[in-house]
Amino acid sequence: MKRFAYLICCVAIACCVAMPVAAQVVSDDMVVTLVGTGGPEITAERAGISTLVETDGQKLLFDVGWGALDGLYKSRVWPQTVTHVFLTHLHSDHISGLPDLWITPWFLLGRTAKLEVWGPVGTQTMVDGMRLMYAHDVEHRANAKFKREDLDIVVHEIRAGVVYAQDGVTVSAVSVEHADGNPAFGYRVQAGKRAVFLTGDCTYGPELVDAAKGVDVLVSNVVAGTPELERSTQWRPVMAKLLLPEQAARLFEETKPRLAVYSHFVKKGLPGAAGDAVIVKRTRDAGYKGPLLIGEDYMRIAVGKTVEMKLVESPLPELYGPQSRF
Ligand SMILES: [Zn+2]
Repeated sequence: MKRFAYLICCVAIACCVAMPVAAQVVSDDMVVTLVGTGGPEITAERAGISTLVETDGQKLLFDVGWGALDGLYKSRVWPQTVTHVFLTHLHSDHISGLPDLWITPWFLLGRTAKLEVWGPVGTQTMVDGMRLMYAHDVEHRANAKFKREDLDIVVHEIRAGVVYAQDGVTVSAVSVEHADGNPAFGYRVQAGKRAVFLTGDCTYGPELVDAAKGVDVLVSNVVAGTPELERSTQWRPVMAKLLLPEQAARLFEETKPRLAVYSHFVKKGLPGAAGDAVIVKRTRDAGYKGPLLIGEDYMRIAVGKTVEMKLVESPLPELYGPQSRF
């Protein structure tokens, strides 16, 4: 996949050629990994939406779109170490990677820790249904080594407010507007003075500005189409429940993050890098001149004194056999 990124002003870029396989995070610094940056569209450009926030040894995964397990591996994150999952809402493009993350690291990579899932009302029903769908594995793959109880999932059905607090790291859920995706949440992750905000899927609203003001990194959804498609009755409802580049520009301008990042691209008639360039132009034309990153799968953003985007290009780690740690 061709790397194509815009990064403007005061954000250093470094290509990482010899990264350790797991990100080393100390104190209140954070690493944001764009595990998958696509929407529901079938495209070779981007896998389903999934974003990992790491801070002080904690790994918090936000949404689990299609390909998330593969995306973690390609991001050089051991999949069996990711057990905390926060769902912005229950649309299929945000949860369809959950079964793989749940089952595969359990029987292939020796994960014994239970998954813990935070999400809106309905999450428990979804998890129960998933367990039913995989009843054969649960019943017959379990054995003395791979214990059935390790497949239990702890579910937290949440409302807006602080939903997670552990060793100085907090996650706050913010109610957002996503039409047929409601109830939907954005999430703010705070660790000391560092903060990341993820809009999830939503259109513009003042609640976003309140929650995202002054964060280090703001990860925003974006939707854009050709002028004809944006006017069409078929796509207008889709445009109305996500952030157009002009709305995102307003959000970025009003919150002034150290780095604004687009992820969860929904593009109608705007394929490839040229389509991404249209989104950048519309964002700039709408008045946002600050740091902006067009997210691509496996990008890693280190948040500390500086905000640095790194393209992970070290060899893929060996998951099995003598070279593996497991
Ligand atoms: Zn979505």
